[in-house]
Amino acid sequence: MAKDKKDIIYKTDEEVELIRKNCLMVCDALTLVAELIGPGVSGRKIDEQAEQLIRDNGAIPGFKGLYDFPATLCVSVNDEVVHGIPYNHEFKDGDIVSVDCGVYLNDFYGDAAYTFCIGDVDEKIMELCRITRASLYKGIEQAVPGNRIGDIGFAIQNYTERKHGYGVVRELVGHGVGRVLHEGPEVPNYGRRGKGTMMKNGLVIAIEPMINLGRKDVKSFEDGTVITKDRKPSAHYEHTVCVRKGKADILSNHAPIEAAILKNPNLKEVADILATIA
Ligand code: MG
Ligand code: MG
Repeated sequence: MAKDKKDIIYKTDEEVELIRKNCLMVCDALTLVAELIGPGVSGRKIDEQAEQLIRDNGAIPGFKGLYDFPATLCVSVNDEVVHGIPYNHEFKDGDIVSVDCGVYLNDFYGDAAYTFCIGDVDEKIMELCRITRASLYKGIEQAVPGNRIGDIGFAIQNYTERKHGYGVVRELVGHGVGRVLHEGPEVPNYGRRGKGTMMKNGLVIAIEPMINLGRKDVKSFEDGTVITKDRKPSAHYEHTVCVRKGKADILSNHAPIEAAILKNPNLKEVADILATIA
């Protein structure tokens, strides 16, 4: 989301379960994308199939019509950071494709994203994806009561920018998730330890590192697509999580997406977290 001050609303256990259901449906849609995507496949095709899955489950695509976005999926290829329009793309060997999806059901949203690596992706870009994915979990580790929002951003920035030299996008941030898609607080992917809003039990937030191979700077097209200024690739992974004592509860689930990636010969997997987290 773009930066903008919004209210912070803590969720009841019942509300958290409604959001979880939505997030799992988002991940079902992303799993279907993982099964379908490959060279020669169009953005339109994965968008139509994802929309069908969501509507078949009695829900509404969460992004369609929001901020004038025309589709179910945000499909952002290579140097596109986020908010890419699926109709503009036919995928080819070597592309990395961020697919972001939201659903709306029972008065609540769900939100998650994954970056798919198609075919023979350059090893430097694979590493960007692995590190970005790993940084998401480093951020999630910080989402416990008593920590502050800046602890999440610090963990992500420290790992991706200071340790690996990537660019952390400043203009776009994670966000609270609830009855509106983008609630407070903002959850930047950069920050200072011990700064920002203190998190309490029941806070539901989307954590979504958007990390550039080159510099952090981005620019926007008129249709809303955000790209890197230096035209180098950008990766994006997102979970919606609930702040819980001891350990955040991850409401979305990348496991079925990653299982489908392993079975799709057109995709390279990035999930080898143990090899990259050091
Ligand atoms: Mg999203
Ligand atoms: Mg989001």
